[in-house]
This record gives sequence, C-alpha cells and structure tokens, in this order.
Amino acid sequence: MEFGLTDEQRAIRDTVRDFVRKELSPREPEVLARDRRGEPGLTREELTGLQAKARGFGFWGLSTPEEHGGMGLDAVTQALIHTELGRSYVPFTFGGEADNILYEANDAQRAEYLVPTIEGDRISCFAITEPGAGSDAANIRLTARPDGDDWLLSGEKTFITNGNDADFAIVIALTDPAAGARGGSTAFLVDRSMGWTSSPIVTMGPAEPASLFFDQVRVPSSHILGEVGQGWRLAMRWIGRGRYLIPARAVGIAERALTMAIEYAKTRETFGAPIAANQAIQWMIADSELELEAARLLVLRAAWLVDTGADPRHASSMAKLSGAAMVNRVVDRVLQIHGGMGYTRELPIERWYREVRLFRIFEGTDEMQRLILARDLLRGHTKVGLA
Ligand SMILES: Cc1cc2nc3c(=O)[nH]c(=O)nc-3n(C[C@H](O)[C@H](O)[C@H](O)COP(=O)(O)OP(=O)(O)OC[C@H]3O[C@@H](n4cnc5c(N)ncnc54)[C@H](O)[C@@H]3O)c2cc1C
Repeated sequence: MEFGLTDEQRAIRDTVRDFVRKELSPREPEVLARDRRGEPGLTREELTGLQAKARGFGFWGLSTPEEHGGMGLDAVTQALIHTELGRSYVPFTFGGEADNILYEANDAQRAEYLVPTIEGDRISCFAITEPGAGSDAANIRLTARPDGDDWLLSGEKTFITNGNDADFAIVIALTDPAAGARGGSTAFLVDRSMGWTSSPIVTMGPAEPASLFFDQVRVPSSHILGEVGQGWRLAMRWIGRGRYLIPARAVGIAERALTMAIEYAKTRETFGAPIAANQAIQWMIADSELELEAARLLVLRAAWLVDTGADPRHASSMAKLSGAAMVNRVVDRVLQIHGGMGYTRELPIERWYREVRLFRIFEGTDEMQRLILARDLLRGHTKVGLA
C-alpha cells in the first residue's frame, strides 16, 4: 500500500500552504475583530478579490473540469487543499466552483446557470431541507404543481447555505406527491426574480443559512434540472459530494488548534513549571494527535476511493463521522489547555468551538452517518474489514 503523495500533489499542497501564509493569515486579526462585532469575516468583494488573486496563479475551480476552465483535480488533492485552508479561520474558498449537479444541465441551462456560476457572476444555493424534513429528507412537502407549460412552487425550505445571497436556487420539490420524494420529486432551477424570498437564520457560528419561501412561484418547464422524477437522485449526489471534504477541513482546523495548544502548554507556567509538564495536559495532546491522524487517514482513504471509481459512500460516512467528532474533541481540549484565555474572544479557539459544532449536524448528522454504516453492514453491502 502506498501512503506517499505524488510530486504534483505535494507541489499543489505547498502552494496552497504558501497562499494561506501570505494572503489569509495576515487577515486573521481583522476576522476575529469582525466576529466580535457580529460581521462576516470577509466581505464578498474581499472574497472575490482573493479568489481573483488565486486565479492568477492557476487556482480556480478545484473540482471544475478543465474544459470549463477549472483544474479538474483528483479527490485526494482536493482533500489536501481543504485541509490546508482549514488551518486558517479566514472563511476563504477558491472560486470557479459550481454545484456538482449543475453539470447535469442541458445546453441552454449550462449557459444560463452553470457557466456564470463557475465564473462567479451568479450565486447558487441548494435547497432540500424543510422545517419538517431534515434527516428525514424524504418527508419534503414543498410542492410543484403543473400549470400549462409551467409549474407553481409552494412551500418553505430552511437552513439553506448561501440562501441570503443566491440569485437562483436548486430546489427539490414534490411533483408527484403520491409517489413521495424518492420517486416523485424533481429539481428546479429557480431564479430569485421568479418570486421566492429569503430570511436569514442567526446561528451560533459563522454560518448564516436562510429560510426560503415559495408562494405559487411560477417556473417554466425549461427550468427542470435533469428529468421529472429525478430530484431524489440529484439531491443525494449533491449531498454526497462534500462528505469527505468537511472532515478534510476538520483535519486542518485540528492541526492548527493543536499546534497552538502545544505552544501554549510549553510557555504557560503554573506552580513554577510549564503546564506541559503535567501528564493531564500531555494526555490531551497525545489523544488529540492520535484522533487527528486517524481521521486524516479515513479522509484520504475516502478520497482515494473516489479517485479509483469505487463506491465511496461507506468510507465517506466514516470519514465525516470520525472527522466531525475528532475536531469537536480536539478544539474542546485545546480550549481547556488554554484555560480562561481559551474562553475569551481574543483567541480563535471559541470561534472554532462554535464553528465546528456544525460539522456534526449538516450534510448528514452523526446519527445519520451511523445509520448508513450500520445499514450497509447489516444488509451486507459492506463486509467488516472490506469497507
Ligand atoms: C448551517 C447549516 C447549513 C445548512 N445548509 C443546508 C443547505 O445548503 N441545503 C439544505 O438543503 N440543507 C442544509 N442544512 C440542513 C441540514 O442538512 C439539516 O439541518 C440536517 O440534515 C439535520 O436535519 P434537522 O436539522 O431537521 O434535524 P432532525 O432531522 O430533526 O434531527 C434532530 C436530531 O434527531 C436525530 N435523528 C433524526 N432521525 C434519527 C434517527 N432515525 N435515528 C437517530 N437519530 C435521529 C438527528 O441526528 C438529530 O440529532 C443546513 C443546516 C445548517 C445548520
């Protein structure tokens, strides 16, 4: 078994590390100051400015195919990049990305939605969750009723990332309520100008999702993504994509936080000696590294399976469950090692503490990942030791 990275993967990782050091790290004090004032870490202009700078040296559209001007990177390299970005709490992502399911668009839709989204001229959001349908996404109620050659969408979506800024939404709606969401839902490309509205949801972390409201929003049939009845398949593809990238970021956050804790433990003195001299502190450091490295291997293995073309779902669920739990435990220990300082808003630790709590909830909660793992094993889709 080969655990090494290719020269190209190493070069890309090092370039991103350099970018983080030169472009993101200097902005960190301002991000914390803004956080204390309840403002986003970067304005949209600052984000697009940084993305343009990164594009200048070729970092644009990590997952975007080369024919669309992207890098078309393999999954392992993307995971490495997300880990590097996780090492800074400046909320940056490289530009040039579009939702994976937009590639299922027809030619006209590609020109109207896919290409401008890649270019950053349009902002999308993906909406399946509803007030009555989160983990149980098949319970969605937002309905699209046919009306001539149009559809009328009515209902509510909630917790939608980018929902405040998006100018179009990919909406999963019931088109055949009797068949239920699995066979009777459809994905629609719905411009905000068609009539949906949004309202922000205040959360405990930097994430600012929105509720979206649809009251007889008229959508032409030409705005159906894929085929009528394929909504569930597209939704599962969308949700599945990030499963190894969220824990990849978690690994980066944990690396940075643990490094801070090690430095602090060596310099903070109590009872005449550095706190690092205490076994209680040493064990927190050791356990954190152990869990971090285990999560890293699960992430890279899931990404590697994506690259080999094998079914990565079971491995991705393990990576997500492990990475989300790991980063919550590590950040909690890092906060504990910093004592009262860890609890202040002078340091980024309490911000991570609030931010990473989300990792156990979105794109499939811990419990849903466990459900997937157990179901695969009990039904024999996966055998112990062969996952
Ligand atoms: C910041 C943020 C961003 C988000 N972005 C998006 C987005 O862009 N698009 C989108 O569509 N959605 C988005 N979501 C929604 C997210 O995917 C859901 O919140 C998530 O799936 C959980 O659903 P829920 O909140 O309704 O919790 P529920 O499903 O109500 O679950 C509540 C609790 O019960 C547990 N539970 C539920 N069923 C079971 C079971 N059978 N066995 C054991 N335990 C169970 C859950 O694990 C959880 O702990 C976002 C959420 C947040 C918080």
